[in-house]
Amino acid sequence: MEFFTTCVAKFLLYKKLNIDSRNKKEGIKMAQPKRRWSKARTGLRRSTWKVEKPSIATCPHCHEPVLPHRACTNCGYYNGKEVISVNEENA
Ligand SMILES: [Zn+2]
Repeated sequence: MEFFTTCVAKFLLYKKLNIDSRNKKEGIKMAQPKRRWSKARTGLRRSTWKVEKPSIATCPHCHEPVLPHRACTNCGYYNGKEVISVNEENA
């Protein structure tokens, strides 16, 4: 009788912890996908991945191409003011 109750207790514990009692070596199983995604489906998803060109603005101070919302690396101006000092020797 004692053996039976321990077996039932083990069964209930394994059920609670979501352990397959027939294969205890595998341990706790988390949620698993039912089947693998096909190569075609993966390719369809990845077909929308594209490399985008960065939008390039023109510095109103020195008319060099600059990235928008960034200080100009050529003259150091942003929003009509000099915000970073650019050494002419390093440039
Ligand atoms: Zn500039």
